[in-house]
Amino acid sequence: MLPILAPIAFTLSLAVIEDSAAQDRYAAERAQMAREIAGMAAMTAAETGRPAFAASVMAAMAKVPRHRFVLPAWERDAYQNRPLPIGEGQTISQPYIVALMTDLIDPKPGHTVLEIGTGSGYQAAVLAELVAAVYTIEIVAPLGRRAAETLRALGYRNLQTRVGDGYNGWPEKAPFDAIIVTAAAPFVPQPLVEQLKPGGKLVIPVGDRLDVQQLMVIEKAADGSIKSRRTIPVRFVPLTREAPAK
Ligand code: SAH
Repeated sequence: MLPILAPIAFTLSLAVIEDSAAQDRYAAERAQMAREIAGMAAMTAAETGRPAFAASVMAAMAKVPRHRFVLPAWERDAYQNRPLPIGEGQTISQPYIVALMTDLIDPKPGHTVLEIGTGSGYQAAVLAELVAAVYTIEIVAPLGRRAAETLRALGYRNLQTRVGDGYNGWPEKAPFDAIIVTAAAPFVPQPLVEQLKPGGKLVIPVGDRLDVQQLMVIEKAADGSIKSRRTIPVRFVPLTREAPAK
């Protein structure tokens, strides 16, 4: 039996080696991506107020396998610092923007964070590396389902997904230490401001025009008062109020 089995075992171990070589190639690409993000952070410091992102945020960017969140046709481009299509006319954000939005909420290990616009699930995974609990809502059902599958396959347990209109937040799980909205709105949805804890932060692209918005940081002070500031111009897909017609 042994002489017959040996070639099979050899083939199998080659497959394992090839697979881990591919993983290693992506690890190097991820490290390069993180360097590019750090460079962009330095360049945009005047507008964002963040010359460097937190080490924990950078570690999460260097860890989450972005190639698992893009369509197979784009897998090899997953670590380029640019947005990519994820199907249903939607896109996964540029990694620098994901890192910036994550840094702007100052994530802490005990935090509960809400994301509106699950998309591929990538931003949710980055958050799940950093905080205690992540809730994420997607309005396009097939995207929400695929993201849930990807996140489950990768073993994220501190994360809940939901298909629905994120405009109204997730009242049953509120209040949140932070909320990230990854789709553009003409104004800040009031339910989201209400679902922030005192001291909480909301990061959202706001603008009337579809081609460019301002990335805003809204902070609720301990006394409940609201302060907001703009950071950089960005371009996000719109926050819709119902699933787009197919
Ligand atoms: N954060 C995502 C990318 C977001 S793209 C990622 O990491 O991949 C923006 C997403 O917001 C799209 O998938 C879009 O369908 C979704 N979206 C738009 N309007 C929404 C709404 N009202 N509620 C929830 N999701 C919405």
